[in-house]
Amino acid sequence: MKTLSHWIGGKPVEGISGNFGPVYNPATGAQEKQVPFASVDEVDSAVAAAKAAHATWGTSSLAKRTSILFKYRELVDAHREEIAQLITAEHGKVHSDALGEVARGLEIVELACGISEKLKGELSTQVSTRVDVASLRQSLGVVAGITPFNFPAMVPMWMFPIAVACGNTFVLKPSEKVPSAAFKLAELAAEAGLPDGVLNVVNGDKTAVDRILEHPDIAAVSFVGSTPIAKYIHTTGTANGKRVQALGGAKNHMLVLPDADLDLAADAAINAAYGSAGERCMAISVVVAVGDTADPLIEKVKERAAKLRIGPGDDPASEMGPLITKAHRDKVASYVSGAGAQGATVAIDGTGFTVEGHEDGHWIGVSLLDNVTPEMDCYRDEIFGPVLSVVRVDTYDEAITLMNNSPWGNGTAIFTRDGGAARRFQLEVEAGMVGVNVPIPVPVGYHSFGGWKDSLFGDHHIYGNDGVHFYTRGKVVTTRWPDPSDGGINLGFPSNS
Ligand code: NAD
Repeated sequence: MKTLSHWIGGKPVEGISGNFGPVYNPATGAQEKQVPFASVDEVDSAVAAAKAAHATWGTSSLAKRTSILFKYRELVDAHREEIAQLITAEHGKVHSDALGEVARGLEIVELACGISEKLKGELSTQVSTRVDVASLRQSLGVVAGITPFNFPAMVPMWMFPIAVACGNTFVLKPSEKVPSAAFKLAELAAEAGLPDGVLNVVNGDKTAVDRILEHPDIAAVSFVGSTPIAKYIHTTGTANGKRVQALGGAKNHMLVLPDADLDLAADAAINAAYGSAGERCMAISVVVAVGDTADPLIEKVKERAAKLRIGPGDDPASEMGPLITKAHRDKVASYVSGAGAQGATVAIDGTGFTVEGHEDGHWIGVSLLDNVTPEMDCYRDEIFGPVLSVVRVDTYDEAITLMNNSPWGNGTAIFTRDGGAARRFQLEVEAGMVGVNVPIPVPVGYHSFGGWKDSLFGDHHIYGNDGVHFYTRGKVVTTRWPDPSDGGINLGFPSNS
């Protein structure tokens, strides 16, 4: 079995804590690797490497930083296939989907290549006689990122390219279930010329996370993961004086109005509910069908679902892969059987599904639950699997009330041909990312990504301008190059003239 390493100070570092976690191939169910779990001392050594590197990286020229980022962009581009293979081997998602997440991560590297435009600052000349004022944004120092299993490459790339472009140094704690893609990204950064210690990867569990949250030399923490842990990270990190952005879980609703193109809506529901086996924070997990749309829409979803090909992610014929672990698969299955017991109609039951020749894989088929109501567990909880619930309502107003009563507010979508209804929805819905006839409205890299309510703790969204703002702090410099006539004693409050 392969034993993985940390990446500290520009090189692989073996784990010394003696604690390891299993890394599975979800398509076979076999443990193929083990990943070291960092002790407090190992986290401290990564932070020390990052702190030492910040002394020079923090004041390095924008020309140097951007030339490294341009090389990095080329290297990640050239290694897309390899990174995607690492993702599929540990996460299970199909290869095309893994390539898609690398492409979305690259968007943020491309944004970081243009960081000089974002860090230009502001200058006001002659605000008073012979006085100028400049606003600058400077790096924070050492910053950390803690990432989830479902995007092993993209979510780390939402964070560190912008952080290091702004002059920070970075300690990344990737998900222990899918550690290899992050390690590869760090290796490529070194190959691009990123100085030792600017980007470090420490693998681990709660011990490593808790040390990051309390370490006095870490200025800021970016987190992406489930809501309970996001809340914990935000509360603990801010109590320790850190800047924290913590993106949490989701239960994304797709509203279908009676005038919608139901073929397009059915395609969208299938793609957004079952893509990546529903293990996306922007997955659609609830369709809210208004008026008489539910019956024809469900028929169309059933026709399409029957044709989906589920299999190993490295088989080009597969459209959906397995779930991350057996325990998670069993939990997802329990929501489907529980929904039936609580009164929902199980229109498609994906439990009990397996793939011939891969019987020990973490398989589940797709499920469709009809007549779901808000008090059912399948509606209340984030299932994070290929389970789509349909809630039937009579009117738009009933739909928007239901959606806005949800504790989450990550992404949402409306399907309609009515521009007025779509416009009303954009303004009224309580969610951070809204799609109009777009089921997974993940913003492009130069806009920012983030939810509302229990989907984000902290006041910055991630990447885009919010990312630059999060990883920098403001400084305002007021300058006078005096004339001899500017002297004299005046104890009054400075005023401009
Ligand atoms: P998770 O919260 O279990 O883990 C995320 C990270 O936190 C991992 O690095 C993990 O090691 C660490 N962690 C887990 N338990 C911890 C604990 N008790 N104390 C300290 N650290 C802990 O999430 P996951 O299962 O890896 O990922 C799936 C979740 O992430 C889903 O809820 C999904 O919606 C969410 N997610 C959200 C977004 C977003 O942008 N809002 C994006 C991707 C995933």
